[in-house]
Amino acid sequence: MIEVREVTKRYGAKAAVSDLSFTVRPGHVTGFLGPNGAGKSTVLRMMLGLHRPTAGSVTIGGRPFVGWPRGMRHVGALLDAHDIHGGRTGRAHLTALAVSNGLPRRRVGEVLEEVGLGDAGHRRIGGYSLGMKQRLGIATALLGNPPVLLFDEPLNGLDPEGVKWVRGLFHRLAEEGRTVFVSSHLMSEMANTATHLVVIGKGRLIAAESLKDFAARGTHQSVTVRTPDVAALRTVLAEAGASVEPHTDNSLTVTGLSAARIGDLAFQSLVPVHELTPHTASLEAAFMEVTADSVEYASGDAR
Ligand code: ADP
Repeated sequence: MIEVREVTKRYGAKAAVSDLSFTVRPGHVTGFLGPNGAGKSTVLRMMLGLHRPTAGSVTIGGRPFVGWPRGMRHVGALLDAHDIHGGRTGRAHLTALAVSNGLPRRRVGEVLEEVGLGDAGHRRIGGYSLGMKQRLGIATALLGNPPVLLFDEPLNGLDPEGVKWVRGLFHRLAEEGRTVFVSSHLMSEMANTATHLVVIGKGRLIAAESLKDFAARGTHQSVTVRTPDVAALRTVLAEAGASVEPHTDNSLTVTGLSAARIGDLAFQSLVPVHELTPHTASLEAAFMEVTADSVEYASGDAR
């Protein structure tokens, strides 16, 4: 479990993260979403003890990362797949890390196989494609077989087959009971990757909830209703607080009430209904909507 408690991080006068609190639980893939510059990398770096919070605390398994003597056995991370010595082979890179962290050397072959670099391990990293570097970065994170894994934009540069593979890997790691925390600035990447989300904007928390609950946030969800008695249904729905837009084909576009509630109200009022179609806001739309709000909110600087 990762706990971020009332964390603020300033770079000089600028606050990259402000009063941020959330918890990342084991057994799930949790997506960490926010537009570029939202503060995601800053938070990940604080989790790894690479930056110190100006205020608040970040703990993994109850204590700061630097308090864990087991390092790579406790937390595995991929922050920047390019931040790696290009002159070494993938195998030499992993072997050096295994030796310096007291990890068994057999893990090197195991993780290379696991990420699909079994045949490329003897080649120099400088010749790797971006996707291969991402795979090597993931192999590095897995080397210590840690219960907690952090990935900063791990899908960048992967082809569709690579993205599918990473998603499968993350799901498996979560099913094994690990804590898997994955950042992205693209909601479309997280939709099939994560089951839980932490969304930040301008360094502040916007949402920390399941993907399902987040999708339901889209306030512009609407329902199409078709009825032979438009006038009667319109009155009933308006009285219940919905906003109703009538169309010429005996249909109404209704916002502010769920499809189930509309159906119940129509039934109670004995108004026949010929169609009841909910239009669920897409995750992407919900994301755009809540992050746009955060930008407005932050510029008002109400807190
Ligand atoms: P993200 O990963 O969500 O794109 P970052 O954590 O990289 O966001 O950045 C958050 C904010 O903090 C940005 O405005 C960025 O310019 C600023 N920032 C990040 N690192 C530093 C630094 N070392 N010095 C000064 N400002 C920084």
